[in-house]
Amino acid sequence: MANGWSTKDSAKLYNIKGWGQNYFAVAENGHVVYQPKRTARQTIDIKSIVDDVVQRGIKLPVLIRFQDVLHDRVNLLNRTFRRAIEEHSYQGKYQGVYPIKVNQLREVVEEVLEAGKPYRMGLEAGSKPELMAVLAMNRADGLTIVNGYKDTEMMRLACLGLKLGKQVFVVVEKPGELDLLLKASREMGVTPLIGLRTKLSSEGSGKWKTSGGHAAKFGLTTPELLGAINLLKAEGALDCLKLLHFHIGSQITDIQAIQDAVKEATRIYAKMRKMGVPLEFLDCGGGLGVDYDGTKTSTDHSMNYTLEEYARGLVYSIQTVCGQEKVPEPNIVTESGRSTAAHHAMLVVNIFGSIETGAAPINVDETPDEHVVVKEIRDAIRGLNVEDIGESYHDGLRWLEEANSLFRLGYIDLEQKAKAETLFWRLCLEIRRLLPQAESVPEDVQHMAHTLHDQYLVNFSLFQSLPDSWAINHMFPILPLHRLDEQPTREAGLVDITCDSDGKVDQYVLSGRPRETLPVHDLNSDPYYLGIFLMGAYQATMGDIHNLFGRVNEVHVFEDEEEPGGYYVEEVIRGQTVRDVLDDTQYSEYELVKMVRTALDAQVKAGTIKPREGVDLLDYYESVLRQYTYIDHGPRAAVASGAQSEPDTVPLT
Ligand SMILES: *Cc1c(COP(=O)(O)O)cnc(C)c1O
Repeated sequence: MANGWSTKDSAKLYNIKGWGQNYFAVAENGHVVYQPKRTARQTIDIKSIVDDVVQRGIKLPVLIRFQDVLHDRVNLLNRTFRRAIEEHSYQGKYQGVYPIKVNQLREVVEEVLEAGKPYRMGLEAGSKPELMAVLAMNRADGLTIVNGYKDTEMMRLACLGLKLGKQVFVVVEKPGELDLLLKASREMGVTPLIGLRTKLSSEGSGKWKTSGGHAAKFGLTTPELLGAINLLKAEGALDCLKLLHFHIGSQITDIQAIQDAVKEATRIYAKMRKMGVPLEFLDCGGGLGVDYDGTKTSTDHSMNYTLEEYARGLVYSIQTVCGQEKVPEPNIVTESGRSTAAHHAMLVVNIFGSIETGAAPINVDETPDEHVVVKEIRDAIRGLNVEDIGESYHDGLRWLEEANSLFRLGYIDLEQKAKAETLFWRLCLEIRRLLPQAESVPEDVQHMAHTLHDQYLVNFSLFQSLPDSWAINHMFPILPLHRLDEQPTREAGLVDITCDSDGKVDQYVLSGRPRETLPVHDLNSDPYYLGIFLMGAYQATMGDIHNLFGRVNEVHVFEDEEEPGGYYVEEVIRGQTVRDVLDDTQYSEYELVKMVRTALDAQVKAGTIKPREGVDLLDYYESVLRQYTYIDHGPRAAVASGAQSEPDTVPLT
């Protein structure tokens, strides 16, 4: 609690209450804790999980899956819909499906199915491989929904599912698919279950709003919808048409967009019922949002409604339109993926060094022989005051440029150049320190102060673990997992270990509004861990092996209800090794080892190395093939090894 800072201040700064949904909080000891029951009664110290995992020799970065959170999300979704249905005396049922594209990992799907058992929660597939998994895994009393573009094979697979006794609905996305389905079902002798996806005129909101509306890539237009009904009538298969589907995009940020869409879709449902189509299900697709920045607004990374409002909104809107049209209330299906999976996974990363602006390993004390440009910059620092910050900055800048041109012409040496640069950065740091007191600050000074922050080097690849941060500027909450009883005294940007300048995080979730830097603590000789939260949806399989950084280690954690603060690690999934990622890019281990052996043999023959050394070097090369692809930087990464040394600080001058 140094200088009046408390863990409460940290919780507020990083807005944990805003985005954490009570799954996460800060404990008195300054550690982030995980609350499986969403209350402070049972808390699990995340830092101690990390220490435990590292002791077991599992290297960072490591992904932690809180399986109980998945369970809880499934429960919450289903219970909320049940309550909304009771409150409104709604006549239909709620029957959700989990779209596995959000996270296809078997353990995730199993957990969802397990939690969803009392609610007959089913699965949705959008491709052939997903369907192959879903056909095997899904329960018979849950729905199986098949979306996405389909070929004959997928239709046959759906028919196979029917033969297995599962309720497989094929949702027709484009007109030609209906023929394929009817043909396949005739061939295989089954009665298909058919859904139609409608293209609504209502658009979604947020980043994925173009998934709905007329320009959408999926779905049938009104004439196509009528065409499909006529075709089914002609084939005597109208009674197979049991489901109407729409999906207006993921992460819908505005409840109004959902209301508009569901009203329009219900109207279509009602008119189809009146035409004699025996529809039983209205499938409202995905889109239920996640409040990533905790602002409860309709901005891209947030949502202006709660799960309760979502469920009540759907139930109420469908009921209202059905009442007006005097048609039966359909069973409601949703395909909520993001909201189910996002909260359960977090990535733990370690900081292994920093790039500090202005830190220089050279002596800049005044010397009699120093060049006038160096003196001038020194004078700019001396003469600095709040009233003319801009003038001092521009003077400094001019003299730095002068120093650079003198160097290019050969008039000053490397030492004088280094001194000029170091002093210039000191000037900038001093200016930044004075900024809060200054009345007016020129734009270029503001810009300079902005870019002056430190960079913390994070042991992970943004491209592998947080692809949405790179591709679509998606924000995820990031914060230190410990030391939250200390005031963070530095502002840093986080950069990853790929050789790609895009490998950095640009925006951070903090209370108030997003910032371009993250408040962090000074690095000392202990490991410094950050957690990246809410990354359970979409990140895992979208990541790539840029720079050949592979899939990360993963642990699955369950709460141990017997013991306060207790947990157990049920599963450890090892990340990819160097050999694995090389193999993915067509390098065979065998060939590589052979090439290195040949090169070593040649050196032995030439007498530059001894035969014994050649054998050891080859062993060494082979051993690295079996290692993790990430940085294994003694002091910070490996608590277990007990190795301690000063942090690496790379001066930037
Ligand atoms: C992607 C997708 C979903 C999942 O959406 P979320 O916003 O993650 O809930 C559901 N249905 C369809 C058709 C989809 O394409």
